Amino acid sequence: MTEPTPASVAVVGSSDGPDTAPAADPAPATPAARKTALDAIAAEVRACRRCPLWAGRTHAVPGEGDPDTEVVFVGEGPGFNEDREGRPFVGRAGDLLVRLIGTLGWRRGEVFITNVVKCRPPENRDPEPAEIAACEPYLRRQLEVLDPALVVTLGRYSMARFMPGARIGGAHGTMAPVDPATGARSALVYALYHPAAALRSTEVERQSYTDVAGIPAALTEARRRRATAPRDSATLAPAAPTLPVEPPVQPAEPPTLF
Ligand code: URA
Ligand code: SF4
Repeated sequence: MTEPTPASVAVVGSSDGPDTAPAADPAPATPAARKTALDAIAAEVRACRRCPLWAGRTHAVPGEGDPDTEVVFVGEGPGFNEDREGRPFVGRAGDLLVRLIGTLGWRRGEVFITNVVKCRPPENRDPEPAEIAACEPYLRRQLEVLDPALVVTLGRYSMARFMPGARIGGAHGTMAPVDPATGARSALVYALYHPAAALRSTEVERQSYTDVAGIPAALTEARRRRATAPRDSATLAPAAPTLPVEPPVQPAEPPTLF
């Protein structure tokens, strides 16, 4: 994606990185400063022992993507392949995620992809509440830095964080405002099924393609709100829109997987 022109960003403070900045400070104003801040969080994650999951990891998986993106995808936690590579969504579920966002004309490097917990739960079991709570500051700080317009949740554990009380069966394919306490200070959330669930069910897979097709409209609505809602003074300048929101170019029918 293109970097915002200097006129489109509010220059605030220094670009010294996150260490000197209290959590309530506005997001770093430049892509370079955001990358520095995200790299610092990733380094903390790789050294983290805040919950027992550290002991079983090969690699922590902090997340990756464009520090200048408007859209953050949040999964549940690393699986086998992610633990081995230290990167999110690189196994079969990741391949499907890439195909899903590809129908919008987006590539994975144009968004940011991360998880609720950054270390792999043993045998891919669900993350426990204490593990999710211990890991919460990392995702919150990533969102504070990225200041996304849209958070796309992948599955129930991620959705629970951004749409408390919602049920995936009713909430998939819908959007809602995000509580700024999550770290996303001015965002909408859009819920998807987890791609691993789509790999297990043709019906969920089909529904996932339908739901993904609703993302551009959610992003357009999120941009509209950010442009009109009162914002914290230092982040008043809206980010230059970067992701295309035209209708998908691909046919609506999902490609046959197997
Ligand atoms: N499933 C997830 O929730 N996250 C990953 O990174 C990979 C698979
Ligand atoms: Fe730290 Fe999160 Fe890994 Fe637990 S899952 S050790 S809190 S990075």
